Amino acid sequence: MQKLLVVANWKMNPSAIGAAQRLTKAIKKGLQRVTDTEIVLCPPHTWLSAIKEELKKSKIKFGAQNSFWKESGAYTGEISVSMIKNLGCSYVIIGHSERRQILGETDEIINLKLKRALKGGLNCILCIGETLEERQEDKMAEVVTRQLQSGLKGISPFSLSRISIAYEPIWAIGSGTPPASPNEIMTAGLFIRKVLTGLYSTSVVQKLRILYGGSVAGSNAAFYIKESGMNGLLVGGASLNATEFINIVKTVSNI
Ligand code: PEP
Repeated sequence: MQKLLVVANWKMNPSAIGAAQRLTKAIKKGLQRVTDTEIVLCPPHTWLSAIKEELKKSKIKFGAQNSFWKESGAYTGEISVSMIKNLGCSYVIIGHSERRQILGETDEIINLKLKRALKGGLNCILCIGETLEERQEDKMAEVVTRQLQSGLKGISPFSLSRISIAYEPIWAIGSGTPPASPNEIMTAGLFIRKVLTGLYSTSVVQKLRILYGGSVAGSNAAFYIKESGMNGLLVGGASLNATEFINIVKTVSNI
């Protein structure tokens, strides 16, 4: 049985290094006794070195929110897989909806990034999910199928074992109104596994962790794990508040 995976996506926050250090320290202290849940902090690239320092002697891992698909060269503003690995990252988030929507990342780009990150030895969190409009048109299945089939194109079963899928319905991200019914998320989770079973063997798919993301808070975290059968959580806004993030992890862990 894989451990639950709880990932903190700090997005473009906090804006000062001291705040990033304080947040990391507080999370590390609050979660030092948690051993049955894998915890990953994903700060902005600029704070990775400082976070590495803070997390020395801690079981908490850290990762980046993005990486590029080329190793070096004339790609202004981009960060390579080796660069983030050299900073101690073991994880990277790929295909977050904000990058898809605001920065125009396509399934093809996401596939290139995923392949490069896997080749470089990183564990990847592949984000998928439908917009509000797509949901209203009853297109969750169609969108998720396309994102999985295109995003995972050419990725071997061995590499799949280093990927977790984060199902993040875009209408729930940062909204404060996550899905109210555990069935809705459970259905999406089962559907994702069904699509993957069309691409990989059942034994490989069974081991893969599917996370839920979208307005997760201490008050609803248990609901997604215990009632919807998710294998972890991707937490945005709430992960910037140490007390709230600690509460989320403790709620889903057996302590
Ligand atoms: C996210 O950005 O991945 C996310 C889930 O954000 P929030 O928890 O703030 O909805």
